[in-house]
Amino acid sequence: MTTAFSSLGLNADLLANLATLDYHNMTPIQAGSLPLILAGRDVIGQGKTGSGKTAAFGLGLLQKLDVKRFAAQALVLCPTRELADQVAKEIRRLGRGIHNIKVLTLCGGMPMGPQIGSLEHGAHIIVGTPGRIEEHLVKGTLQFDALTTLVLDEADRMLDMGFQPSLDAILEYLPSERQTLLFSATFPSGIEAIAQRVMQAPERVQMESTH
Ligand code: ADP
Ligand code: MG
Repeated sequence: MTTAFSSLGLNADLLANLATLDYHNMTPIQAGSLPLILAGRDVIGQGKTGSGKTAAFGLGLLQKLDVKRFAAQALVLCPTRELADQVAKEIRRLGRGIHNIKVLTLCGGMPMGPQIGSLEHGAHIIVGTPGRIEEHLVKGTLQFDALTTLVLDEADRMLDMGFQPSLDAILEYLPSERQTLLFSATFPSGIEAIAQRVMQAPERVQMESTH
């Protein structure tokens, strides 16, 4: 199996940008999950910290993005502000080859006003923590009519932190026809239950025991 990013059929701008970032070969979790993600499948990915999970879902989002449509097409949920900032930064880096992609982070512990202002300007990709995303949805300051992809990043930690009720509330606002990607380092039974509810025939990609 080839693990070169160039084997994936990514758009030329994305591929050229990956080369400038010195990303040439996929990590095992990327090689296992990206072909499925790009094929539009729901994917559950398990891989330890540092295995490259962000680019696995990030490239999936970016390849699918309609840049001309200035509406939130992807939502990435993360357990903490620090992780959301890291994910947003990596997606911006990966997307540097594509013109004018707007990635907006929306996390708790930050004032609502500036976030509402940013939302009025619009964004293609929203990265945030569940509590604050729920708050914007309830307030009507964020809409996901154009959403095509939902990512639950570090799903085990989101459960540990008690975000299950927020996740459930957010799901009510999302189109049911969408691609859902779930990444987690561990798989307690709560994760399996979430996957059953929010995903359609998910493919599992587990990296623990691989070379
Ligand atoms: P995880 O979310 O699995 O903990 P990250 O997505 O944060 O891991 O990636 C860990 C590091 O590896 C980051 O610094 C990222 O830039 C780098 N990285 C990811 N994929 C590749 C790749 N294919 N080639 C080179 N570096 C990569
Ligand atoms: Mg990560």
